[in-house]
Amino acid sequence: MKEEEKTPDVTAEKDDQKEKRKCVWEQINEAERAEVETLAAEYKEFLTKAKTERAVSQTILEKTSQAGYVDLAGGSSAKKGGWLGHHGKLLGLFAPGHDDPLNGFNLIVAHGDAPRLDLKPKCVYEDMGLGLLKSNLYGGLKKFQWLARPLAIWGFCALKDGRHVDIRFGEEPGDPVLTITDILPHLDRKVQRDKRLSDAFPAERLNVLANSLPVDDKKAKTRFKSALLKIFEDRWGIKEDDLISSEIEIVPAGSALEVGFDRSMIGGYGQDDRLSVFTALKALLSTKKPKRPLLLIIFDREEIGSFGSTGAESNFIMRLAAAALGAAGKEPSWLNVQKALAATRALSADVEASVDPTFKEVHDDLNSGLLGHGPCVVRYTGGAGKYGASEAGAEYMAFIRRIFDEAKVIWQSTLLGKQEEGGGGTVAHLMAYHGINVVDSGPPLLSMHSPFEICSKSDVWMNAKAQKTFYASA
Ligand code: MN
Ligand code: MN
Repeated sequence: MKEEEKTPDVTAEKDDQKEKRKCVWEQINEAERAEVETLAAEYKEFLTKAKTERAVSQTILEKTSQAGYVDLAGGSSAKKGGWLGHHGKLLGLFAPGHDDPLNGFNLIVAHGDAPRLDLKPKCVYEDMGLGLLKSNLYGGLKKFQWLARPLAIWGFCALKDGRHVDIRFGEEPGDPVLTITDILPHLDRKVQRDKRLSDAFPAERLNVLANSLPVDDKKAKTRFKSALLKIFEDRWGIKEDDLISSEIEIVPAGSALEVGFDRSMIGGYGQDDRLSVFTALKALLSTKKPKRPLLLIIFDREEIGSFGSTGAESNFIMRLAAAALGAAGKEPSWLNVQKALAATRALSADVEASVDPTFKEVHDDLNSGLLGHGPCVVRYTGGAGKYGASEAGAEYMAFIRRIFDEAKVIWQSTLLGKQEEGGGGTVAHLMAYHGINVVDSGPPLLSMHSPFEICSKSDVWMNAKAQKTFYASA
C-alpha cells in the first residue's frame, strides 16, 4: 500500500474544512470596506513613522496626550487615562473602567521592538578605500535578507554631559541611504554557495557601507574613517566615543507600501508586532466607558527573549498595576496588586504565521492561519511537546470564543506550525506568571521577520475589532 492511500479520510476532511473558510473580504459590506481602507492608510503611516521601539513609544504618547492621558508616575488621578513609561522604550497605558480594579483589568500586551541590526559600540572602521560600520544582530532575522538593499539609521545618542541626540538618516525624501554589500555570484562559490545556509552568512560580515570620500589630508592614517567620523561630528555633534553610549539601529529604508494588483495587502518592516500595537491603541482609545478598567503594555526586547529592564521579564507590570490602582483611588499595596493581576484577563497580542502557499508543508492544514481570514487565536505556542508554552485553559478559550462570536469578529483558531518544524513563543507565559488568564491573538503575516512583512488590510481592521471587543468585555 502506498503511503498516501492509508489516510484518505483525513485528506477528505481537510479539504472539506478548507472550503468552509471564507475570508474577511467576503463577509463585510461596502461601508466596512471603506473603514478597512481608512484604517489601512493610517496604519501604513504608523509603520513608516515608528521604526524603532523609541519611535513607537513617542508616537503613542503623542496620540494619548491628545486624548487627555496623564503621566501616572506623578501619582495623579487619571480621569481619561494615564501612562507609565520606562527608559523611553517600554510603555504602559491605563484607562479607568466602571468596575473596581481589584476585580482585574482587561489587559492587552504587545511589543514595539522588531528584528534589526544594531551598531556595535565600537563600529567605525575603514578598509579598501571605504568607510564601514560594524553591526550586531538583534532578534531572529534571516541575515541574507539584509544584504544589497537600502537601509536607514534610526538612533539615539546619550552624551556624557547629559544631552541626548536623535540620529536619523536615509528616510527623508531625497536622502541617500546606506547598504550592506553582497558578493557577486561569479565569485561566491567558496564563501557562500557551497556552504550550508546557516554558515554562508556570518554575522560579522554584515558591515554597513557608509562612505567612500576620504578627508583631504594625505598624511592622515585613516582618511576614510576620519571622513566618516567628521560626518558624525558635523551632522550630529557626536564623536567616535559617543557611539559607545548610543543605541543606533539599522532598519530597512522607505515607507510601508500597498501590495497586490488589488492593493489588498500592506508590505513593510516591523509589522511584528507594530500591527498589534497600532490596532490595540485604536481599540483602547475608542472603547468608551468600559466596564472593566483597561491596560495596554507595549514591551521592548520581546524579540531577544524579553530580557532587560524594558522587557516583559521585568517587574513593570506590577508597577503599572500599582500606578493604575493608585489612579483609581485604591491602595496600591503589594497584596492589592497581586489580587488585581490574578483577576486580570489578557490578550497577548502578537502576529501569527500565515500559511505561505510556497511553503505549505510546515503547517498543519487544520490548525493553520490564512492571510485575510481574520486574527488568529493561538491557544499555545512553544516547541514540540508544548515545551515553553503558556497554554490558555479551556474555560478562558470558551470566554474568548463567546465574546468574539457575539460581536461577529471573524477569527481563526490556529497553531504556529507542525509540531516538529521549529517553534516560537511570546510574552504570554510572563503574564501567566502573575496568574493572569492569557491567550495569544493576532493577525497572520507572510514573510514574518523579513524586511518586508506582508499583512492583509482586512486583518488589520478585524484585529482592531477583536481587540475592541476584548476591551469592552465585562
Ligand atoms: Mn512578535
Ligand atoms: Mn517576532
